[in-house]
Amino acid sequence: MASSSFLAQLIEAVGPRNVLTDAADTAAFVTDWRNRFTGLAEAVVLPTTSPQAAAVVLACRRNGVAIVPQGGNTGLCGGATPGQVGRSIVLSTRRMNRIRDVDPQNDTITVEAGCTLQAVQHAARDAGRLFPLSLAAEGSCTIGGNLATNAGGTQVLRYGNARDLTLGLEVVLADGQVWDGLRGLRKDNSGYDLKQIFIGSEGTLGLITAATLKLFALPRARATALAQVESIDAAIALLARMRAAAGSTLTAFELMSRESLQPVAPLLGLQRLPVEIAAPWTVLLEVSDHEDESHAQAVLEAGLDPEAGAPIVDAVVAASLAQSEHLWRLREAIPEAQARAGGNVKHDISLPLRGVADFVRQTGEHLQRRFEWVQPLVFGHLGDGNLHYNVGCRAGVPAQTAFEHEQELNQIVYEAVAARGGSISAEHGLGQLKRQAAAHYKSAVELELMRSLKQALDPDGRMNPGKLL
Ligand SMILES: Cc1cc2nc3c(=O)[nH]c(=O)nc-3n(C[C@H](O)[C@H](O)[C@H](O)COP(=O)(O)OP(=O)(O)OC[C@H]3O[C@@H](n4cnc5c(N)ncnc54)[C@H](O)[C@@H]3O)c2cc1C
Repeated sequence: MASSSFLAQLIEAVGPRNVLTDAADTAAFVTDWRNRFTGLAEAVVLPTTSPQAAAVVLACRRNGVAIVPQGGNTGLCGGATPGQVGRSIVLSTRRMNRIRDVDPQNDTITVEAGCTLQAVQHAARDAGRLFPLSLAAEGSCTIGGNLATNAGGTQVLRYGNARDLTLGLEVVLADGQVWDGLRGLRKDNSGYDLKQIFIGSEGTLGLITAATLKLFALPRARATALAQVESIDAAIALLARMRAAAGSTLTAFELMSRESLQPVAPLLGLQRLPVEIAAPWTVLLEVSDHEDESHAQAVLEAGLDPEAGAPIVDAVVAASLAQSEHLWRLREAIPEAQARAGGNVKHDISLPLRGVADFVRQTGEHLQRRFEWVQPLVFGHLGDGNLHYNVGCRAGVPAQTAFEHEQELNQIVYEAVAARGGSISAEHGLGQLKRQAAAHYKSAVELELMRSLKQALDPDGRMNPGKLL
């Protein structure tokens, strides 16, 4: 229960309509997207400006209350969900959603943290430019959340992840000061690159309130294809072939196992998938072309020509934008289809490409030997060496069975990742879900450096406690 004086300070900072305390109003903010974590918050506070956000941070500091930053609450590791003990508020950035500036000449856009990713994409497009970060949660997730988790998505192959797209940040520090680092510079070697400390810090070092982001030329045309392959080795050979053929115009290369595609049809209200999936693996490829549609199609078709050596079983190239969107929908619906099917134990891992096929084969065999009910559901951004290696149950086995063995499943997967020099969190961060596992797999030196940063920037541990570290 919040003290009346603390609540009064919050209300003074943001106004009464922006401080929520009724359980019915706060419920959606204290549970995560996957319904795996629920926490306690004395209030949900929704500032509309950076000075208001700073005033909230100061009020929390004065009253010894922790701050859990939250954007769209689409994170998959419980990072935006408060814990069960101690005093905390959720600071939601949803009302800090202004596009502050679009500068087509400098190819930059400056936006507030609570802008949805989609709103930023649209603002860029309205100015005739491209903001390339793209992921299935883009209608709900926010730029602040994207930066705090260093989000990846489907265009990393060509444009990099959120970190690579950021030129400047504005941050409210744990002591309530505002750091204005909103520089739209592509070159700045005037000391430590402070923005990098906050990107990927999952709200544990400060509250990102705005960002200056890179824009790019809008491609003139896009060509999309779905190719089926017999093995991951074949998919990797196809990736090399497409890179040689398309160079930097290859903007997506997504891998999906047959099992991960199956539950998508019912989710989309279809009797069956629009393409018959005959092979064990399917790749969704996209070429973004700066010439025209026919050039894009020609590049894609040449790369996918089996007679010219493409290692594929079958392929369809979308003939229209609508068809292309249909193919993308198949890929983007996979996480939701898995959630509808009861969920599974998720692993968001990355590996050097040469280790991917061996990892999938050997880990699958290991899991199968240990649990006869196990069903790996593998998909992800193969072009980046990033797989969502989710472990669910075969048909007829309750989904809960996988969660009952979560620890052992994690251990089998993570050991196999670590043995191949990979990362146990490629995209989603650590949150409260993976912080202990990360502590196990990181070196003592790395952990010490991370703790030093935390101590320097948030000595009282008020920013998102119980997450990441
Ligand atoms: C269907 C689906 C598909 C997804 N696909 C991808 C994908 O392809 N690639 C990918 O990387 N992720 C993906 N995600 C995960 C998620 O969408 C991303 O992590 C996203 O970047 C989170 O943004 P958010 O605004 O929802 O952040 P939240 O969930 O609100 O917060 C995430 C973390 O960031 C912190 N945070 C939020 N805002 C701020 C801020 N302003 N300042 C400081 N810290 C802050 C929170 O405290 C928390 O630790 C997916 C999620 C879903 C549900």
